[in-house]
Amino acid sequence: MLVIMKNDATQEQIDNVIREITDAGYRGIPIPGDHRTAVCIVGNQGMVEESPFLALEGVKEVLRVTKPYKLVSHETCPKPTVIRLGEVEIGNGCKPVIIAGPCSVESEEQTLRIARQVKEGGAKLFRGGAFKPRTSPYSFQGLGKAGLKILEKVRSETGLLIVTEATDSENLKLVEASTDIIQIGARNMQNYSLLRRAGQTKKPVILKRGLSATIEELLMAAEYIIAEGNTQVILCERGIRTFSDNTRFTLDLSAILSVKALSHLPIIVDPSHAAGRRDYVIPLSRAAIATGADGLIVEVHSDPPSALSDGAQSLYPEQFCQLVKEVEYLNMLGVEKC
Ligand code: PEP
Ligand code: MN
Repeated sequence: MLVIMKNDATQEQIDNVIREITDAGYRGIPIPGDHRTAVCIVGNQGMVEESPFLALEGVKEVLRVTKPYKLVSHETCPKPTVIRLGEVEIGNGCKPVIIAGPCSVESEEQTLRIARQVKEGGAKLFRGGAFKPRTSPYSFQGLGKAGLKILEKVRSETGLLIVTEATDSENLKLVEASTDIIQIGARNMQNYSLLRRAGQTKKPVILKRGLSATIEELLMAAEYIIAEGNTQVILCERGIRTFSDNTRFTLDLSAILSVKALSHLPIIVDPSHAAGRRDYVIPLSRAAIATGADGLIVEVHSDPPSALSDGAQSLYPEQFCQLVKEVEYLNMLGVEKC
């Protein structure tokens, strides 16, 4: 249920409404975006017309949120959420953000080289895993803490913002201190304790869709993060399991449309993990941008054949430059949406 405050409601009135909601035994959570206009009550309070909260000072109306996800729903917050990091905006509907870098941080030299190359190509954000969720326990597991130090160096030497994955609540603390955006991987989309912990941080979170997750499950996972107070969530479609085995996963482009229809959160696309092969990455990126994605996260490596993970799907730096040009061109065609 949603208690909408009047536009001129004072902070005192908002605080009072949240206190009354809490005293009545419900959880009162200010909605993301414009905290001054509404509070969300998680729980079922019966008929909205009879809500005791209607009589409180500063309250304009009480609405029922019909979806199971409350805080991520369009019903709660009709305005799109825009995540701002310095001069970068994610979800502004004008300019798709491009995040690029290797699957894994392998060494300082490899990471810095790729960082300079993707910066040259036009990326503003750099991706690279220090803690890697690998299918096989015998595969390279990432450099861990040492990898985070390398990423910090990338930030200080290139000015690129950092995106890196936290794979459990333990390393989330370390990741939080080193990164600009915390990534929660597909395999952890329903790791609820990790989601709650991510919700207690102040850093934006990229939440990747689980390998076989429905859109509703993805949105419910985002709800876990926002319900803890972190409203800065970016969803990511990265391909799902289908019977089709010609690609690693199947990129579900309609996820972009469904998320936009149901939620105010931005959604980006990872064509690299969806395809599993580099020759499909640019065409799938074009499709994602044409469908309305708020950005892309792509794997790039200066020497893909020697990459310690996901070399087959990593773009060469020249291909990355081509990708950025194509995205800019496509975006220019749709510029009237800004
Ligand atoms: C990754 O981004 O490196 C990754 C492991 O992705 P996903 O969680 O989507 O498989
Ligand atoms: Mn990867």
